[in-house]
Amino acid sequence: MALFGKNKDKEKEKKHCPICNNEMTFLKSVALADGTICSDCEAMLRGKYDIDRWWHLRFDGTVKQKSHDPLLDMSIADVQAIIAEAKQNQAETVGSLGGEFSALLTADDVFSIEPKAKDVGVKRAKAYKNRLVVRGMIQSGEFSKEDSVVILHGDARLETVLLDVIPCGGAVDFNTELKANMHKKTAGVNTNAWLILDVEQGVAHGDVIAKA
Ligand SMILES: [Zn+2]
Repeated sequence: MALFGKNKDKEKEKKHCPICNNEMTFLKSVALADGTICSDCEAMLRGKYDIDRWWHLRFDGTVKQKSHDPLLDMSIADVQAIIAEAKQNQAETVGSLGGEFSALLTADDVFSIEPKAKDVGVKRAKAYKNRLVVRGMIQSGEFSKEDSVVILHGDARLETVLLDVIPCGGAVDFNTELKANMHKKTAGVNTNAWLILDVEQGVAHGDVIAKA
């Protein structure tokens, strides 16, 4: 394979990423189903958008196994559709709530946790027991550990505190990040994050987490 610079002429053939239009090199790109995008866009998509959920919604969960990397089976048009949908949701949420709150995140996923003391220590295991975690894109502002937030659940408003904030990065899953505990405790606009809320119920998919 002529990957490592034996063919200088090949290097000069410049290709442009169909998503961001920046120049791509072979080593800093990833091949999707019908085209190649740059590694910057790959990183943005993995961190920013819930590809796995989108794929399952569209294909009813029957097409690919859970262990499969859905990004690699997507087309350029699929990626463009995800970006357009996320921008639309962001515009709507920020348009209706941005005047009232400094930071907003819409919950794409909600789950309960009960981490073991041997994995996270006695203190954190106790604090996190049966707490809800929301995962979603931060649509404005930034969230940090110990922030006071409001959960907008239908017409109900529930005040709580963020026990932790874990930025979603790469293919690393929630439990691995929680256990390692090496993450930044803050996450900003246009990134995906997990927020550990100090509640055991009262949050659903589509609810908005807001900071005053
Ligand atoms: Zn790109």
